[in-house]
Amino acid sequence: MKDLTSDVAIIGTGPVGLITATVLAKESQFQINLFGPKPNEETLAKDTRTTAFMAPSVILLEKCDIWQNCKKNAAPLKHLRMIDDCGSLIKAPDCYFTSEELNMSAFAQNIPNSDLNKALIDKIESGPKINWIETKAVTNINHSNTNIEITTKENQVFNTQFCIGADGKNSICRTAAQIKTEQWQYDQTAIACAFTHSSPHNATSTEIHRKTGPMTLIPLEEYRSSLVWSLTPEEAKRIASLNDEEFSAVLYENSHAILGDITSLEPRVAFPISGLKVEKFAQNNIALVGESAHVIPPIGAQGMNLGLRDAAHLSEILKSYSSLGDNLNEIQDEYNASRKSDVASRTFVVDMLNKSLLLNDISLKTIRSTGLTALRNFKSLRQMIMQQGLGDEHSLPQLMRAEV
Ligand SMILES: Cc1cc2nc3c(=O)[nH]c(=O)nc-3n(C[C@H](O)[C@H](O)[C@H](O)COP(=O)(O)OP(=O)(O)OC[C@H]3O[C@@H](n4cnc5c(N)ncnc54)[C@H](O)[C@@H]3O)c2cc1C
Repeated sequence: MKDLTSDVAIIGTGPVGLITATVLAKESQFQINLFGPKPNEETLAKDTRTTAFMAPSVILLEKCDIWQNCKKNAAPLKHLRMIDDCGSLIKAPDCYFTSEELNMSAFAQNIPNSDLNKALIDKIESGPKINWIETKAVTNINHSNTNIEITTKENQVFNTQFCIGADGKNSICRTAAQIKTEQWQYDQTAIACAFTHSSPHNATSTEIHRKTGPMTLIPLEEYRSSLVWSLTPEEAKRIASLNDEEFSAVLYENSHAILGDITSLEPRVAFPISGLKVEKFAQNNIALVGESAHVIPPIGAQGMNLGLRDAAHLSEILKSYSSLGDNLNEIQDEYNASRKSDVASRTFVVDMLNKSLLLNDISLKTIRSTGLTALRNFKSLRQMIMQQGLGDEHSLPQLMRAEV
């Protein structure tokens, strides 16, 4: 039986929507309606990406009893290596980071998105607290001061007090909230796939910086890795259409054979790379999480980790109120304040790093090379950057901190 009214409606059943629903259900007593299609085996297989979850994200997933269903498919990332293969006059030095320098056994855990999403669906289906409204799409959202009306493609109408938009980069929640947005394209498409290889990866994630963007090789099981390879859209189209043997040969050559022979390849999917930032994270009783609120290129594994911080911050804020009604303005102000600097700083740094590869700009290349030389030489600087990559310790929500 579908509840036509709820306290909170979450729109979008991608990973961030599913995680937000799970965290909020654990943290609060609010009645939750979750809107979107239920992914099946076929749709799950279409996402060939993996996600490197930083340690604070893993803590959140553990606290919400999601990690126990994921960890059998996850692999630790203990070391990170950056190699300059841009071929420009100003060559940056190779850089090596190890989690031991932060006294951690691993920076992150890498898991295929299909396994993550499956674990999330199982978790939601096994609990009574989330009412999943299966719909092809939400087609209309109308808000007044006291109510939000949600219409689905199947012409059903639902009402809610507060709406969370987890509906990705083309979010209709963001449009309904009238949130000003800046969007841009990079001349890049990333090919993502998993493959097996003859040499061990030794829990090392390797970023090879090329002039079309990074090629990243991220550990899965010992002789299996995932690939995220940023190319120009034309090059990506050509390379993605190569047969397995040809693709393996190109991958072997461009990765400088650091993982040995490519012994088998899994399906490849191309993802166009774009950027997006919003002026506000909540307005008109609609809050945004995940890619509805920020889109950044896949450098340094930051996108989904930001989405989890959105979910955790918003859930903690909502938890601190026993009712929504009169408190909605305060809730939105708190959420806007909690996300502003974290999202802005990541968007800026990732954009600059990406541009320093793509643009033939001498000053950007000099800054990058000088920065990487300093990182290579100074342990304290490396420790600071590694800590920042995990998430600013001081502003992390409680749900993402280890219990002491
Ligand atoms: C190649 C690549 C590699 C990446 N690797 C990493 C990594 O290692 N670490 C990391 O942190 N991040 C990584 N990212 C980023 C990460 O993948 C994204 O941040 C994440 O997938 C965003 O999830 P989301 O749920 O916000 O959006 P989406 O996955 O886009 O989900 C949105 C959902 O909303 C649904 N929807 C849309 N409109 C409607 C509607 N009107 N009604 C109902 N439902 C709707 C869609 O069907 C979809 O299911 C990577 C990105 C790329 C491109």
